[in-house]
Amino acid sequence: MLECSICVHTEKTKKILFEDKPICVDCLTYKKYPIDFNKLKKEVEETLEKIKKENKKYQCILAFSGGKDSVVALKLLKEEFKINPICVLVDNNYLSEDVIKNAINVTKYYNTDLIIINRDFTWLFNEVLNRCESPCRRCSRLILREVWRVAKLLGIKYIITGHELPFGHSAIRDMKDGIKMIRLLAPYKIREEEKYELIKDLPWKKPNLYGYTTNCLILGVALERFYQKYGFSFEIDRIAAMVRLGLLNKEKAKEFLKKPNIPEELYEELKSRGLKLINK
Ligand SMILES: [Zn+2]
Repeated sequence: MLECSICVHTEKTKKILFEDKPICVDCLTYKKYPIDFNKLKKEVEETLEKIKKENKKYQCILAFSGGKDSVVALKLLKEEFKINPICVLVDNNYLSEDVIKNAINVTKYYNTDLIIINRDFTWLFNEVLNRCESPCRRCSRLILREVWRVAKLLGIKYIITGHELPFGHSAIRDMKDGIKMIRLLAPYKIREEEKYELIKDLPWKKPNLYGYTTNCLILGVALERFYQKYGFSFEIDRIAAMVRLGLLNKEKAKEFLKKPNIPEELYEELKSRGLKLINK
């Protein structure tokens, strides 16, 4: 099967063309219009300067998932940029217990306030997983909406997230009512291994989960079902982008793209939380 010489797309997941070597259309587009990381850095750091001048107890919100990326973001905010966020964690009823522990331990370590908002997304996962589709986009949209509400309530103008990929060619996006969202890690191209290295002395333990996640119980099951229907992972575009940008090596990426084998206990655990899957 034809495989892109830069990322991990194959002809099964993307159109592959030939230059001197096989290359997917996404990599070809990227070669023509590469991301200017210096520009990303400049726009993010100018915004962080503004945040630093916010004369408030909480200068921004950190949308906190308890996963490694948001922990790296917290570390950068506190140690590097000397900014005081309030962390907002939306518990959608499908976070592992380790995640909540991690979130509490790390925010305590940094003496940072943490709000946990409980919302049950069972309805969403039942609907989407029974169609064997990806729930990620809708889930993160719902989470961001909750975080935005907290920003509105507290009069905070900036929401920081731990996403590593920019929105196209910018790391900042305008949300409703003048609130800005900043993807803090986007300019810095921190590789997977470096992230673990950065947080190794923090009170954070890697949970044992399925798929490319350090916080979500649903992802593995969603991937398994999608795989059964389509024969590939719905994470392919995100993971291919990480390889393209040099954040992840191909070998690791391919590992993440394999069909996960979810043990029966995890299905039982999800069932006990309310998930009802047919054909299982
Ligand atoms: Zn490619």
